[in-house]
Amino acid sequence: MMDDPFGRGDAEVTGGEAAIRPARLAALAQRFGTPLFVYGADGMRSAVRRLRAALPSGAQLFYAVKANPHHAVTRLMRDEGCGAEVASEGELDLALAAGIPSEAIVVSGPAKTERLLTRAVEIGLRAIQSGSLDELERLQAIGTKLGRRAPVALRIDLAAGEGVRRGGWAGPSPFGFPAAALPGVLERTRSLGGVSVIGLHNHQSSQVLSGDAFAERFARFADVAMAAGRSHRLRFLNFGGGFGVPAYADDAPLDLAPVTERLRAIRSAIPHAVTFAFEPGRYLTGPYGWYVARVLAVLEAGGTRFACLDGGIHHMLGLSGALRALRRPVTVRLLRESVCGDERPTELTGPLCTPLDRLAGAVPLPADLRVGDRLAFANCGAYAKQASPLNFLGHDWPAEVMVEGATETLIARRVGFAEVLALQAATQPADDHAGALTS
Ligand SMILES: *Cc1c(COP(=O)(O)O)cnc(C)c1O
Repeated sequence: MMDDPFGRGDAEVTGGEAAIRPARLAALAQRFGTPLFVYGADGMRSAVRRLRAALPSGAQLFYAVKANPHHAVTRLMRDEGCGAEVASEGELDLALAAGIPSEAIVVSGPAKTERLLTRAVEIGLRAIQSGSLDELERLQAIGTKLGRRAPVALRIDLAAGEGVRRGGWAGPSPFGFPAAALPGVLERTRSLGGVSVIGLHNHQSSQVLSGDAFAERFARFADVAMAAGRSHRLRFLNFGGGFGVPAYADDAPLDLAPVTERLRAIRSAIPHAVTFAFEPGRYLTGPYGWYVARVLAVLEAGGTRFACLDGGIHHMLGLSGALRALRRPVTVRLLRESVCGDERPTELTGPLCTPLDRLAGAVPLPADLRVGDRLAFANCGAYAKQASPLNFLGHDWPAEVMVEGATETLIARRVGFAEVLALQAATQPADDHAGALTS
């Protein structure tokens, strides 16, 4: 057994108490090959419990499955008492297959198909979260046809018109009605017999790391809800997700204390029974996933050392900075027992033929870094494999392993790219094609 070369200084960014030790990551990489995703079930469970403890009692958690749409992860969330937030038929199927009952599922998304809306009403989802009048009218038709009332939570965009920027969107967005439009929308829905507005929904941005900023946003949402509540009975307030986790080595963890305090005040200011709902994704999974890759080449260029890995942004797009605002140091560790020589700043790049395929810059790694060394990237449990361009440049899909206590379970096998190619329809025999090229 090797020592813990990670040390303990940054336990929080690498999964806290629930971190999977480097020696174990190395053994898993040996056993299952690289690139490899490793998830820690114990850490995910502890995150659900920690978040629940910080929220008002009786609050309902809907796991945002897009953060990590794996069956095993979704099932774990169900076992911890979570419902699911989904935004496609595929995600709905996943949540149902993981055993989450339809009344514990909410559906979001700016453009829902007829089939998704019809199923949502038919199987009785908890709420259809909607930010467009067109969609409400389609729901009205579906509800009327099925002889039901579609339960709707109106999505509110607090940033619209306020100069506040939502991640990636400057100004207006298709993600909710501007708060100022709400009275008119409520008025309009009163005449829609097939629709029942049960509450409001707000999900403003992801990766919020300031407890105070979060508390402030929740308070603004509650103000909107209380104003609307004077003319309309609201039973469901969904405060959305966005609970951030330290993404970069120098990020501090989210302090939930201001959130707890503000929500308590909001709760006591609302006179009647309202369900408080939340849709965390990243917070429950991000810090409990590691991406392990292997060095395939070490080279020097212009005084800079590069380590080219078998893993890249085709499996972990987020590391390119594409899903974030800034490139800053991520937490990455060498999985090796003994090192020699001084550390040197090293650029970590992947196998793709694009300058986008940079996983981390200026990582201090030992002078004797060599082919075959394995590196583990922390914080790869959310917006990872399924949020990446898996097929770009024809590499295999990485395997995924779930670790729980002493148990190590392969939850997704490696998929050879040949299997992906087999999904393509052959348009003409290869011989004809060769002929066409030479004629
Ligand atoms: C993505 C998303 C979430 C989850 O966001 P996290 O930042 O992962 O918590 C929740 N609700 C909606 C509507 C989303 O689009």
